[in-house]
Amino acid sequence: MIKLEKISKFYQVGDEQVTALQDISFPIEKGKLTIILGPSGSGKSTLLNILGGMDQSTAGKFLFEGENVTQFDDHQLTDYRRKVVGFVSQFYNLVPSLTALENVAIAARLTANDHRAEEYLAKVGLKQRLNNFPSQMSGGEMQRVSIARALSKKPEMLLCDEPTGALDTKTSLRIMKILQEVAKTSKTAVIVVTHNPSFERYGDCIVRLRDGRVESIKRNPVPSEIGEDVK
Ligand code: ADP
Ligand code: MG
Repeated sequence: MIKLEKISKFYQVGDEQVTALQDISFPIEKGKLTIILGPSGSGKSTLLNILGGMDQSTAGKFLFEGENVTQFDDHQLTDYRRKVVGFVSQFYNLVPSLTALENVAIAARLTANDHRAEEYLAKVGLKQRLNNFPSQMSGGEMQRVSIARALSKKPEMLLCDEPTGALDTKTSLRIMKILQEVAKTSKTAVIVVTHNPSFERYGDCIVRLRDGRVESIKRNPVPSEIGEDVK
């Protein structure tokens, strides 16, 4: 079980206290796509970084499988980041001198005769691009490599911060479809942060943030299928 209970995050900027998050509470389900929606500055990245163990909250509890991550020491946090979390950002952060296959294999510490890197790339529809370098791929393809790389760690949570931020609409939908499938076919909790309200219908659960607070939580009984025509 993954659960946030009254998570708050404050920053001290000079004499002023900036509230990035205030009393955020909601559960996160494995095998589901959770979309965190909100305008710029609403606290989305701060929240994602707390979920990923990259930042700690000022107050409240973050429970992961019965453990309170907010009380983890540095060693436990490092362990948590390595074993639990996969991260995808709008910047693909691929190593330019490595092929798609190598980018995935290196991150997962796989040896050359291990075929799992290939399997993860096949999962995101890139079987034909294994030996391409980042400079030989489109933005959407690079993002798919970065998703395959994150999946190769077998994360329990896949955190995606504006994963389609640099992509056109059609490519963005392709990425959302892949993330929808990842959530459905693995036991991973997929969490996508976006400022684009048109993605809302693809999520199982939609959490709207405004000024650091939860504005609404909506569950889609049956999220929209992103059409097969999106290639
Ligand atoms: P979003 O990702 O939704 O755009 P952020 O989580 O980046 O929002 O930021 C939420 C709020 O917290 C903003 O008002 C931002 O200015 C503030 N903030 C974020 N990081 C810091 C920081 N390191 N120091 C001071 N204020 C910060
Ligand atoms: Mg952000």
